[in-house]
Amino acid sequence: MTGDQDVDLQVPLSPDDHSLPHSASGEPTEEQDLSAVAPRPTSARRWTPQRVVITPAALDEPHGARIVARVEALGIEVERLRGNRLTGVRGDTDRQTYARAKSTLAVVVSPPSRRKLQPIAPSADWRVDLAEGCPAHCQYCYLAGSLSGPPVTRVYADLDDILANLARYVGEGTVTSRSAARVEEGTTFEASCYSDPLALDHLTGSWQRAVEHFGAWEAPVQLRWTTKYDDVDRFLPLQHARRTRVRFSVNCLPVTRRWEGGTSSLEDRVAAVRKVAMAGYPVGLTIAPIMPLEGWPEHYGHLLDLVARAVEDVPDLDLTAELITHRFTAGSKEVLLGWYPRTTLEMDEERRAVKRGKFGTSKHVYPREVMLELRGWFEDQLAQRLPRCRVLYWT
Ligand code: SF4
Repeated sequence: MTGDQDVDLQVPLSPDDHSLPHSASGEPTEEQDLSAVAPRPTSARRWTPQRVVITPAALDEPHGARIVARVEALGIEVERLRGNRLTGVRGDTDRQTYARAKSTLAVVVSPPSRRKLQPIAPSADWRVDLAEGCPAHCQYCYLAGSLSGPPVTRVYADLDDILANLARYVGEGTVTSRSAARVEEGTTFEASCYSDPLALDHLTGSWQRAVEHFGAWEAPVQLRWTTKYDDVDRFLPLQHARRTRVRFSVNCLPVTRRWEGGTSSLEDRVAAVRKVAMAGYPVGLTIAPIMPLEGWPEHYGHLLDLVARAVEDVPDLDLTAELITHRFTAGSKEVLLGWYPRTTLEMDEERRAVKRGKFGTSKHVYPREVMLELRGWFEDQLAQRLPRCRVLYWT
């Protein structure tokens, strides 16, 4: 295999140009055609990678050694690489390459550029990556079009340095810290921008350590992440000091069942909301992407009732909701149709309004009257069905 067929593990998966904001709403990212690589969505509660590799530099890091011990204890062999290049990922076809990459976990040291944090509006003051890549197969995934090279999931071995670096940013927030309604959250750090924490934590323990780091950090700070998995039991006994908000990305059943391959079921995610709330964590719902499917008030009403029942007797409940409607760009549509050519997901420009972004790009959102109807319904029904829930933002 020649050099350019290798995967350079020093190159991060997500774009390195952080002058552009990453956004779930389709802000500009470099996109590429990944046609014909669509996997069949499967349901998996815990990801077991087919192949785990570690670079020499990662092996020198204390957390790298911890990950090796954890993965080997699960009976998975860890391949020690001699350098930063990974061979054997590229297959004869894009589909084969995609499948191999998606089932590979690489333990690496994060690129130096990741030490300079970027704001991540509207979620948090700062974005911090503990990993990049995700084993799930959501057919609307906003990351699909922005991956550089085969999507080998990278987890970072230099976790201790990543966490120590955060101290520089306390009090420097530019997003939630400037919001009168959210300033009491302190300086916020979002740790799930390009990954799903609970899809990976059983292999790395990284988010458990992050929770403990924030728990021991006596400062006005908050760790935040969102997940489509329910694997929370290891987090329940941790000393979190209520400085981590665990959010669950949820949707109505037609969306979770049709378009969220490889994730935990909605019922399991809602049961996990209850578990972490009972363990005293601030919790949240990331309701995204909201879609006005046929019968949507009934379907979303069911979702809110499910959550309401799960949290009704939780003492000192601190519950928030983030409401994000579906949108797409020309590029993300092309990539997603390449991955999921038979998808039934609606991405019809004729039924959408165009919203121009700061960087000359445009995204397709629902028309104003649909947005107003959806927003009015959610604000009204959340107030009625989940009165203890605070809405953080609508987009
Ligand atoms: S869980 Fe999130 S990052 Fe992973 S495929 Fe689904 S939308 Fe994309």
